[in-house]
Amino acid sequence: MFIFKTHTELSEWLRLQKSENHSIGFVPTMGALHSGHIALVKKAIEQNDLALVSIFVNPKQFNNAIDFEKYPITTNEDIAFLESVGCHAVYIPAVDDIYPEGLAHVDLDLGMLNEVLEGPKRPGHFDGVVQVVHRFFSIIQPDKVYLGLKDFQQCKVIEALTNTYFPNIHLEFCATERELTGLAKSSRNMRLSEAGKASASHIYQALQHIAHQYKKEDLSSAKRAAILYLSKHQIEVEYLESANADTLTLTSQWQEPTHNVVLLAAYLENVRLIDNIQF
Ligand code: AMP
Repeated sequence: MFIFKTHTELSEWLRLQKSENHSIGFVPTMGALHSGHIALVKKAIEQNDLALVSIFVNPKQFNNAIDFEKYPITTNEDIAFLESVGCHAVYIPAVDDIYPEGLAHVDLDLGMLNEVLEGPKRPGHFDGVVQVVHRFFSIIQPDKVYLGLKDFQQCKVIEALTNTYFPNIHLEFCATERELTGLAKSSRNMRLSEAGKASASHIYQALQHIAHQYKKEDLSSAKRAAILYLSKHQIEVEYLESANADTLTLTSQWQEPTHNVVLLAAYLENVRLIDNIQF
C-alpha cells in the first residue's frame, strides 16, 4: 500500500494512475478506523481499480476544542488495518498540506441544511466539512466517493457541495455498520466504558421502536416515549427529530414509506453520539 504524506506526492501517483485509465474510489476518514470505515473501503476496492483512503482529523470541523484534542489517533493500527483488506493507497496529510497559506475559502450556501439538527448545535462544523472535502476532491478528483449514512446530514451537505462544484464525482451512501447490540460503530465509542457501551445500545433500540410505531401512533408521542426511555439509560438526548429523508426538512407527521428519517444526538459519559434510522 502506498502511503502519501503530501498532496504533491499523491498527485504525482494519481496522474500516473489516471493516465492508465484506472478508476479511483475515495474514502475520506478521520482515522481511528473501525469496521464501519472498512466496509466503505471494501466497497471502494470492489467498485474501482484503486481505493484511496485519507486520514485527517480536520481541525476546521470541530466546534469544540476538547472534542478535537480528545479525538483518537491510531495511525499505525489504521495503516495495518487498511493494508490487511487490500487498500491501495492512503493519504495522511499535515494540516498545512490541506490548508496552505492563501488557500481560498470555499463559499457554499447550505441554506436550511445548515439550520437544522447538527447545524445550530455545532456552529461552523459543516463549513469545516465543506472546506476539507472541497480540498480533497480538488486534489484527488476521484471517480467515486464512499460516505456513511451514519452521518446522514453530512451526506446531504457533501451532496450539495458535489452538485455545485464536482458534478462528475459519483457519491455512494453506505449503510451504518453496527455492533451486534445495535450500537453504531464510531471512533468515539472508544471513549465509553463497557457499561457506557451497553447503555448506548439503547439508542438504536429507541430509534427502531419509533420506526415500529410508524403510523400506529402519533409521531410526536413516539418521540417523547423514546426520550424518556433513553433518559432511564443515562442517555441525555440533545435532539431527536424526524425529517423528510430527501430534503432533511423537519417534519411533525409521518412521511411516505422510505422517506422518513429520525435523527438523534445524545450525550453519554460526556461523549456525544449521533445516530439515525430511515424507514
Ligand atoms: P469519520 O472518520 O468519523 O469522519 O468517518 C469517515 C466516514 O466513515 C464517514 O463517511 C462516516 O459516515 C463513515 N462511517 C463512520 N462510522 C460508520 C459506520 N458505523 N458505518 C458506516 N460508515 C461509517
